[in-house]
Amino acid sequence: MAKKLKIGFLGGVGEIGKNMTVIEYGDSIIVIDVGLTFPSEEMLGVDVVIPDFSYLVENKEKVKAVICTHGPEDHIGAVPYLFQVMDQPTIFGSTLTLGLIRAKLEEFGLKAKMKTVTSGSEISIDCFKVKFFKVCHSIAGALAVAIDTPQGVIFHTGDFKIDHTPIDNEKMDFAALADLGRKGVKLMLSDSTNAERPGHTISERKVGESISRIFAAHTGRRIIVATFASNLHRIQQILDIAAANNRRVVLSGRSVVKVVELGKTLKLLRYDDSLIVNENAMKKIPPEKLCIICTGSQGERVSALTRMAAGEHPSITVGIKDNVIISASAIPGNEKSIYNVINSLYRLGAEVIYSAIEDVHTSGHAHQEELKMMLSLINPKFFIPVHGEFRHLKIHAGIAQSMGIPKENILLPELGWSIEVAKDGLKKLDNIKAGNAYVDGDAVGDLEPVIKDRRQLSADGFIIVLLSLSVENGKPSAPEIITRGMAALSEEDLAEMKKQVLGAVKNIKYINSDNRDAIKSAIRRTVRRMLYSISQSTPMIVPIVVEK
Ligand SMILES: [Zn+2]
Repeated sequence: MAKKLKIGFLGGVGEIGKNMTVIEYGDSIIVIDVGLTFPSEEMLGVDVVIPDFSYLVENKEKVKAVICTHGPEDHIGAVPYLFQVMDQPTIFGSTLTLGLIRAKLEEFGLKAKMKTVTSGSEISIDCFKVKFFKVCHSIAGALAVAIDTPQGVIFHTGDFKIDHTPIDNEKMDFAALADLGRKGVKLMLSDSTNAERPGHTISERKVGESISRIFAAHTGRRIIVATFASNLHRIQQILDIAAANNRRVVLSGRSVVKVVELGKTLKLLRYDDSLIVNENAMKKIPPEKLCIICTGSQGERVSALTRMAAGEHPSITVGIKDNVIISASAIPGNEKSIYNVINSLYRLGAEVIYSAIEDVHTSGHAHQEELKMMLSLINPKFFIPVHGEFRHLKIHAGIAQSMGIPKENILLPELGWSIEVAKDGLKKLDNIKAGNAYVDGDAVGDLEPVIKDRRQLSADGFIIVLLSLSVENGKPSAPEIITRGMAALSEEDLAEMKKQVLGAVKNIKYINSDNRDAIKSAIRRTVRRMLYSISQSTPMIVPIVVEK
């Protein structure tokens, strides 16, 4: 059978986050990104959501390389979970990306082969030749990848924006991208996160200017800035602005402390060591000479800013002399938590500045004009929008069409789709297994039944029906009924329920402990029917049968 070039979508399409794409030819698989996402409210008790790796586990010996376009969680977060089930692939990424991955693997007690690549690097992985291109994004070290395959070049943008004045002066290499486009790109997969937004993103440097103005206007007050720990460019700007305003910096929150240390080690952050003081030394410095950089820009439950807002932070008390800058935007789904934090900060008397009020944040994802620029430079024959909910992909497809890519050369992928890139076009093959795997503490995998139970418990509570059978003659006695988390039953309803349960059990032909399942289902049926007629509630029903 002739070998096929296949692209499999294990994550990042039809959703934001959990990015993961599989490129396969013959016996070789390259994985691009291994991201995770955070649980939505109805995924009770779930810590993180990772891609279902079944397809890769089934084809384990084929997986040669994992290319991570950039950190953090939505592109590298699930790497440790993948390396719990396989350890042979080599991980490729920029210095910062690999630094972040190494720290994650260490936390899990895992090791992996890693190779650092930079813009312009070319590597060979079996039949694939891979070349990397720097792009601007909300984290340093972001790379796009061109994979030269037996069916032509596939270009994956990773996440990108076009910033002509980036903080590290690492501008996108337009000439190299145009050159790639001129030589011919068969298929482009491109970031769709901001496909709905017209125009251009503002430059990271503009954000620095806004923050700088806020510092200048509030010289007599303490300034607290919450941002994404991974956004080293933003942190660099805040450090520079604090230094220029004679303020010392306190880092609050585990991830921000860790990332700043890593950034310094990798020489990606530059600051004078005396600039940063710890939370103890902070007490000796007047508040107006301080700038606190903290986690919690998404209103995360255990983050530094959320604890400050709740008055629960061990060493930082927020009050009327504080200006809090939230230098981030809400990841969809987090809006409520963030606004709760903002409301609490206002109640404490602080001034709060966030992106709805001033330009204290810019997105790392291209707006429409930037997406068009990328399409122009690469000029691909075929186009697949990725990284976005279905509406983002759809709008991005429309943009590509408006740029002259014929409709039949554009494909809107869904999770689990496998696409063949053939000579004459893109062909949909049978789906591959894909979806969510849940992580709750040490448990990983299909936790859907557990989550369903939790959902039911949280919505309707539970009811325990304890029925005892006589050891001597097997006769059932009137059951005990215990409820939690549901509206109390009246004395009459309770008495009636006991009566009906007993009646239902007595109707079973053979009542003995070997026939427990039949007894339990009779109890469940009776209780469910009664509760539904009393209150339309559907709590979890737990029948327990004991011998006494
Ligand atoms: Zn990203």
